[in-house]
Order: sequence, then structure tokens, then C-alpha cells
Amino acid sequence: MLRRALLAASASEQVRRIITRVPLSRDVVARFVAGDTVDDALAVTRKLLDDGLLVSLDYLGEDTVDPQQAAAVTDEYVRLVGLLRAGGMSAGGAAEVSVKPTAVGLDLAEHAEKTACENIARICAAARDAGTTVTIDAEEHTRVEPTLRILGQLRPEFPDLGCVVQSYLRRSPEDCRRLASAGSRVRLCKGAYNAAPDVAFESRAEVDRCYARCLRVLMDGPGYPMIATHDPRLITIAGQRARAAGRQPSSFEYQMLYGIRPAEQARLARTGAQVRVYVPYGSDWYGYLVRRLAERPANLTFFLRSLVSRG
Ligand SMILES: Cc1cc2nc3c(=O)[nH]c(=O)nc-3n(C[C@H](O)[C@H](O)[C@H](O)COP(=O)(O)OP(=O)(O)OC[C@H]3O[C@@H](n4cnc5c(N)ncnc54)[C@H](O)[C@@H]3O)c2cc1C
Repeated sequence: MLRRALLAASASEQVRRIITRVPLSRDVVARFVAGDTVDDALAVTRKLLDDGLLVSLDYLGEDTVDPQQAAAVTDEYVRLVGLLRAGGMSAGGAAEVSVKPTAVGLDLAEHAEKTACENIARICAAARDAGTTVTIDAEEHTRVEPTLRILGQLRPEFPDLGCVVQSYLRRSPEDCRRLASAGSRVRLCKGAYNAAPDVAFESRAEVDRCYARCLRVLMDGPGYPMIATHDPRLITIAGQRARAAGRQPSSFEYQMLYGIRPAEQARLARTGAQVRVYVPYGSDWYGYLVRRLAERPANLTFFLRSLVSRG
């Protein structure tokens, strides 16, 4: 209930104005976001790489309806990839980037899919020059088909372009079967959005069962699975499935969000597993923050307490 209410609130302009104007929101934001600037992002990336982790950087922003804004976000990604390269952080895909289709054009009134596709292609070309990769984030379920079409158009030129499957969607095991081809990078997560029961599972147990089903398809296939979860039970199942499939640690990776279960990230890396941390940065943090609050009531308590104690 609370999760649904929060995700619904995330769409309200009034709620957005209140939360983003409260200076104390910053304390909570700092837990999940590297900072406002690219320099903040690069400093966090350097530290994580030094600690033996991999990184995927996300320039915050989504639901862009202005073509110039979509172009500016694309420019920022191209600049970011260039800076990663200059800093020696992109080689071998150590630090890559994650891109939301609606941040680079998928929500425009005209030529939306074409613009998003062209913009993602620009980012992919820069990433290839820097020796790294791009992963297309998954957003609301209505964006799945256009996102998969964009992936299909770009993969012939950029075979290492990654995508995301969300296990809360009923269609996802089938998507995994279609996507689990040789070399295909697929990130599996539970999904951070709301959807109607005809397309999405409602209970956590069903979402988790679907996650395990998708995991099996990806681990048993010839692709490169990216296991994006903080859930201890699913992390254990992933390790078991990787062993059962005879996979080497280099043939898949775990992924977690910046600021969530950092001790577990370090522990997994010490076992020899590849662990990538998803690091968001930028000033447009509102939608991202609300999704993190919705995932865990304790985060909301932390947020409200910081408002009350300092307000
Ligand atoms: C690398 C990465 C990329 C992602 N990309 C996408 C994407 O493209 N599209 C999309 O829809 N979703 C994405 N997500 C979010 C994902 O869908 C889930 O909403 C999120 O990961 C929480 O689910 P969980 O698997 O960790 O399991 P949960 O059952 O939600 O959590 C398991 C445990 O993890 C910890 N935990 C989880 N969330 C939090 C939190 N917010 N704060 C503190 N502790 C927490 C808690 O200990 C909790 O008990 C991504 C997640 C990761 C890790």
C-alpha cells in the first residue's frame, strides 16, 4: 500500500515541489546519490574501483519532454564517458554508463523513439571509443516494447549494449528467453515501478519466484547475466545457479545500488565475484529518491526523522 502510494506521489508535481525545496532532503539524497556534479561522480567511481568494485554511472533525469533537454543529457553522457576514459576508469568496462530512454527522448511528442535511439547510439559510440559499455535502464512497463525495439536496432552495431528485465512483469521469463543469446548483457532486477495486475505480479513472493525463473534462464543460457538485487536469498540462489551451470566468475556479475548494502558488495567482491555498483549523480534526483524510499519503509522513517529533528 505504502509503496503504491509513494510511487503514485512521485508523479505529483506538488509533492515534488515540497520535497525538493526542503533542504534537509539533501541528507537522505546523499545516502543514495554520488552528488550533483560530474566531479562528485568521478570521485565516487575512483574510490569504488580502488576498492575492487565495478561501476555503472547514471546521470539522473527522466521523462524529458524537451528535445533540447534530451540532447543535453546525451551530451552529458558523452562528456562523462570521455572523462572516464581520460581518468583511466573505462578500460575493460570497469566503469560503464546506464541510460534511461525517457531521459534521452522516448517521451518527446514527436519522433520520440527515433530520437532516443539516435541519442543512445551516440552514447554507445563514445563508450566503444572508451573501451566500455552502455546499459539501457528499464522504466514503466509501457516503455518495455519501444526500449526492446531500440535495443534490437542498435545491437547489430553495438553487440555489447545491455538491457534490463524486471521480474515484476509477467512477460519477463519470455523476454529472458529471447534475450539470452551469446554475448547478450542482461540485467535482471525486480522492478521499481507500479503496474496493473494484468501485466505485473502484485505479491513480493510472486515477483521473487519470477526472479528465480528468469535467473535460471539467463544463467543456463550463453549470455552475460547481471544479477541486480540486494535480496540475500536471491543472491544465494544466483551463486548456486552459476555453479550448477558451470559458469566462471568472469561470466556474470552482481549489481547493487550505491548506498545499499555496501558491506555485502565488499563481501561478494572478496569471494572473487564481479560486483558492479550503480552510481547515480546529478541534481534531478527526485524520482530516483522516491523509488528508493518506496522500496523500504525504514528509508521513509529515516527521511521523516531527519525532517522532524532538524526542522
Ligand atoms: C544495479 C541496479 C540497477 C537497477 N536498475 C533498474 C532498472 O533499470 N529498472 C527498474 O525498474 N529497477 C531497477 N533497479 C531497482 C530494482 O528493480 C529494485 O527496485 C531494487 O533493487 C530493490 O529490490 P531488491 O532486488 O534489492 O529486493 P528487495 O526485496 O526490495 O530488497 C531486499 C533487501 O535489500 C535491501 N534494500 C533493498 N532496497 C533498499 C533500499 N531502497 N534502501 C535500503 N535497503 C534496501 C534491504 O535489506 C532489503 O531487505 C535496479 C537495481 C539495481 C541493484
